[in-house]
Amino acid sequence: MRKSNLIVLASTNADKYREFKSLLSAYPEIELATADGYVRNPGKIGFAEQYDTYLENAAAKARLVNLGSHYPSLADDSGLEIDALGGKPGVRSHRYAKVPGSPSQNDQDRANIEMVLSELRGKGTSDRSARFVTTLTLVIEGVMVHATGTLEGSIIETPRGTQGFGYDSIFTPKGSDKTLAEMSEAEKNAISHRAKAVHELMNQVKARGVVLAKP
Ligand code: IMP
Repeated sequence: MRKSNLIVLASTNADKYREFKSLLSAYPEIELATADGYVRNPGKIGFAEQYDTYLENAAAKARLVNLGSHYPSLADDSGLEIDALGGKPGVRSHRYAKVPGSPSQNDQDRANIEMVLSELRGKGTSDRSARFVTTLTLVIEGVMVHATGTLEGSIIETPRGTQGFGYDSIFTPKGSDKTLAEMSEAEKNAISHRAKAVHELMNQVKARGVVLAKP
């Protein structure tokens, strides 16, 4: 049976899904599903991320999943911008290190971290400032709503912590001694770029009178 309150996340990343589920728990009228089971080739969603901006990538992923699933779709495109590396890895954060074959998410994350740390060492700079950026696109009833959130911080020299994903273990938010990977999910969700973007998105949804779930 078709559900009237379902939004399909344009991602198969289990970590992102968990974070979004928790962030959206403040909006109990909607139910979030991963793309698995709702689009024919969920593994191909990543191929829609071919543009040079978070906005274009998020919009492409959300549109793809909305067309394929016939449900409203939420997509995010995010990245880590390191000032001393000219903003890299940025929009290419996901597959920054070229790992042959089809690496697991953990192996890809580890290679990405090694690469940015080694590039920073090569620069020999003391500027470790960086930020996470995420842009969200919600496609619902032919309307597209976008929102962006950022989290400022810096890159440490040696990874610490086991929570989270991606570059969490090398990033300390401004004013914190802990990396994101040393924080509980609740602590990360209270400050993260993704949390800020979700709240901004929901403000816009409300301001534009978009109905998230039909009664
Ligand atoms: P995408 O948005 O799926 O293109 O993924 C961007 C990449 O940025 C992810 O694969 C992670 O490596 C990184 N990233 C995005 N958000 C976070 C975060 O909250 N923590 C750590 N890394 C992140």
